Amino acid sequence: MGAYQHILLAVDFMPGVEQVCGRARELGKCTGARLSVIHVIEPVIMAPPYEGMPSLPVDFEQQMLKSAQDSLKQLVDKEGIEGASWSVEVGSVKWTIIEHAREQDVDLIIIGSHGRHGLERLLGSTANAVLHAAPCDVLAVHIDN
Ligand code: AMP
Repeated sequence: MGAYQHILLAVDFMPGVEQVCGRARELGKCTGARLSVIHVIEPVIMAPPYEGMPSLPVDFEQQMLKSAQDSLKQLVDKEGIEGASWSVEVGSVKWTIIEHAREQDVDLIIIGSHGRHGLERLLGSTANAVLHAAPCDVLAVHIDN
């Protein structure tokens, strides 16, 4: 089995994201693999579900997309993930990461894991969901809480 060729790093902007980025940076350097970074936005329900609730602005999703793109670019620069391509996509977090990995011939997904217990664990986590559906290896980076 050869070294990894294409690593996909999935990021949110929560505390601990630096640890996950650090691992991806190290692994990218050791393997020489191409590195891509993805952040996923869940689709927004535009119509107010209850009477009397104000509607969201028409361009709300566009604004969210733009601000997520700005944040992701800043994160990639700040974490020194040199040469990485990055993208913000809209969809289900789990399935968008999986689809992206399939389409882009990714051979390693790097994702953070909070090592939850009890009810939180029963409800599942993104890392767990991705691990069970991934078409390739998955590295769950332990985030110190
Ligand atoms: P969570 O299960 O929400 O604690 O997230 C665990 C890990 O899943 C994070 O550290 C990220 O690597 C990844 N993740 C969570 N939300 C997103 C998202 N919206 N886009 C991309 N990756 C995410």
